[in-house]
Amino acid sequence: MESSVTKHIIVIGAGIIGASIAWHLTKAGARVTVVSASGAGGVATPNSFAWINASWGNPEVYFRLRIRAMAEWKRLAKDVAGLPLAWCGGLCFDLPPDRLEAYAAEHLSWGYGIERVGRERAAQIEPNLVDPPDFAVYVAEEGVAEPAATAKALLADAEQSGARVIIGVVDRLIPSDGKVTGVVVSGETVGADEVVVAAGTGTPAIAATAGIKLPLDTPPGLIVHSRPYKKLLNGLVHAERLHMRQTAEGRIVAGSDFAGSDPGENPEATARDLFAAMRAALHDADGLELDFHTVGYRPTPADGFPIIGRAEGVGGLYIAVMHSGITLAPAVGLFATREILEGERDGLLVPYGLERFS
Ligand SMILES: Cc1cc2nc3c(=O)[nH]c(=O)nc-3n(C[C@H](O)[C@H](O)[C@H](O)COP(=O)(O)OP(=O)(O)OC[C@H]3O[C@@H](n4cnc5c(N)ncnc54)[C@H](O)[C@@H]3O)c2cc1C
Repeated sequence: MESSVTKHIIVIGAGIIGASIAWHLTKAGARVTVVSASGAGGVATPNSFAWINASWGNPEVYFRLRIRAMAEWKRLAKDVAGLPLAWCGGLCFDLPPDRLEAYAAEHLSWGYGIERVGRERAAQIEPNLVDPPDFAVYVAEEGVAEPAATAKALLADAEQSGARVIIGVVDRLIPSDGKVTGVVVSGETVGADEVVVAAGTGTPAIAATAGIKLPLDTPPGLIVHSRPYKKLLNGLVHAERLHMRQTAEGRIVAGSDFAGSDPGENPEATARDLFAAMRAALHDADGLELDFHTVGYRPTPADGFPIIGRAEGVGGLYIAVMHSGITLAPAVGLFATREILEGERDGLLVPYGLERFS
């Protein structure tokens, strides 16, 4: 029998973020209902490049959250059998040598597992590169999660432990006396002690129904997928204007950046050009064929950093929307669960409250 203190929590969204939060809440003993318009796997999530990293371009405080998230993936992989994760390593040379060296020096001082490599070692790591770089940075601890399959595996495991997943569109939140008391799903009211909005690019529209303004950009990113092919890549390769990796089923996926290419006015032509550049960069790729391309919209808060936490002045509501959701998901799921069930906000989340925009 359900304990009188068991909280019923609605999680809106079944992408990697909603799936991780639902999994952690369920395992911590909450009664969880996931509501998703798109079914398990999400919307941005299946269109992601899915690189797990704490790489360059971020302040140290955000690096600390990302490196923690990388460790939390390892913890989660022990708890959920068969998660499609690979710690395949990343070879990065998409910066001029002086900036690459500055990145290496800074992140090494922060404890990132960086190896500086020359041409010979780069060719050893990725023997099929036509033009190995003279100088690159290799991080063996970087990896990938096959994104939709990982979200689905987390949700399936949560369902085994009692979570419910329902397909439906959340029309609005139900605010009452400064607290959200449930949601309206496809015209029907569902009550809850707490509602988590992890709805990716759909988050601002839902939050607005409780009077909350959420500054979110949704830039597009195009990724090409080859048909499955023999193994050409061992790990992630971040060359100038060409980021690529090979999936477990043998597809090479690539963008001009891990965040995807700008699709431009003619996404088919952009995909063809990108694919040709990828094929030209690899030995033994004559038989490689373009299967399809995707255009995903990246849920990116206005300052580029995640929004994770409660909205000031509104009880019963927790918001989790971010880019780099593949990297961050396990830490976000763990920390959100602790905050919702125990009232403890992890120190690593302090910079990421919605109040920073007010
Ligand atoms: C091209 C591209 C490359 C990327 N590369 C990387 C990368 O290399 N590394 C990395 O860490 N991150 C990367 N990202 C970012 C990452 O993929 C996203 O941060 C992550 O997938 C977001 O997951 P999510 O669960 O928040 O959103 P989504 O996967 O979009 O899921 C949103 C969910 O909310 C539901 N929903 C929305 N509105 C409603 C509603 N009204 N009612 C009910 N349900 C609703 C949807 O149906 C869906 O289930 C990339 C993204 C893209 C597009």
